[in-house]
Amino acid sequence: MKIKCPKCKKDAELAPDFSFVKCDGCGLDMSYGEYVKYVAHNDATYTDILGDYAGSTEGESSGTLDEWD
Ligand SMILES: [Zn+2]
Repeated sequence: MKIKCPKCKKDAELAPDFSFVKCDGCGLDMSYGEYVKYVAHNDATYTDILGDYAGSTEGESSGTLDEWD
């Protein structure tokens, strides 16, 4: 499924079996476990998305990701 890349905020691909997350935009390539840690470390908004993906929070990121890395 498509998810928001935590790094470049474009579309990333989450494997159907949750085994990996990849983004063509910035080359992000990590396991889902790493992805969860990544986004949890970054912005609590993303953990909400992961917990309830049906909720529409698209575009509500606070912009704090810009400072990561
Ligand atoms: Zn990306």
